[in-house]
Amino acid sequence: MPELRQNFFTKEWVIIATERAKRPEELATHRPVQEAPAFVETCPFCPGNENKTPPEVMRHPTDGGPRQVRVIPNKFAALSSDVQPVRSLQHLRRRVSGFGFHEVIVDSPDHSRCMAMLSDEHVAKILWIYKQRYNVLSLDPRISHITIFKNHGLDAGASLQHPHSQLIATPVIPSQVRHRLYEALRHYDDVGECMFCHMIEREIEDKTRVVLKNEHFVAMEVFASATPFTTHIFPLRHMASFGDISELELSDLARILRTLLAKIYVGLENPDLNFTIRSGPAEYGGARHFHWYVSVIPRLTRVAGFELGSGMFINTVLPEDAAEFLRKVAIDKMAAGAGK
Ligand SMILES: [Zn+2]
Ligand SMILES: [Zn+2]
Repeated sequence: MPELRQNFFTKEWVIIATERAKRPEELATHRPVQEAPAFVETCPFCPGNENKTPPEVMRHPTDGGPRQVRVIPNKFAALSSDVQPVRSLQHLRRRVSGFGFHEVIVDSPDHSRCMAMLSDEHVAKILWIYKQRYNVLSLDPRISHITIFKNHGLDAGASLQHPHSQLIATPVIPSQVRHRLYEALRHYDDVGECMFCHMIEREIEDKTRVVLKNEHFVAMEVFASATPFTTHIFPLRHMASFGDISELELSDLARILRTLLAKIYVGLENPDLNFTIRSGPAEYGGARHFHWYVSVIPRLTRVAGFELGSGMFINTVLPEDAAEFLRKVAIDKMAAGAGK
């Protein structure tokens, strides 16, 4: 029998189509492996082409050594930091002028290495950069929300092949984020606890949807997952804002994120994917009701009419099967190749 499941955080329903269920391995891309070159002369993110991008915002290392991670403003920015956020309301038509920050984080100088292929130490440097930018931009009183995300592959929205992440800081809180914050607050009001902490504890006891766990983080398939292999990584310590992550936690997050991406890369044959950090606004630091997390979403299926019309998704892979599949994927070969 098919089953409807409700997302604990959003109250949204999904249909888990058990009758049309696919085995996880059936969703592998079966794409031929295409080796990308380490350097592409025309790529604006490759070393030596720094003049093809707007001036650098920051880099790692910060002491002037050879650059490993680089932050630049997006040349084709969705929002501009050169204007002020002026609000207007005219006959129900509400507008804010297009103020905001749109930055690109170039993951490494190497054109060919996606995040799954980098060393854990290098991924930790990228995450450290995320945190610095998150905290600096959060201090701007005109900014209400910051989204950090990665597009990997054409179907995930990546227009340039050179591995990079992005950050968009907006003068408004997106409604999807507001909805999650509201549901979390309502749960806290009703029950007096963080609903994420509650769920994490139960899922770790249950084990069936847990993919990976280390000292500070757990990666798990989502019980009411809208799409196959959507995986969340939660900090085990209660924290509402990503900006509050500690150095030790950054290394553990790098390890678990890199391992998960490598498992997806090997097991599903390098699918296009997105990940995003879902954090409460920085001023939520210390808030008891919200808990930040990373959402990793492989783009294995297409959104069709039913999803667009109802907002309800049909997932053809059982989250429990997806978790079991990912637990078993061996990434030794990939780990041996990483570290450069
Ligand atoms: Zn490049
Ligand atoms: Zn919590």
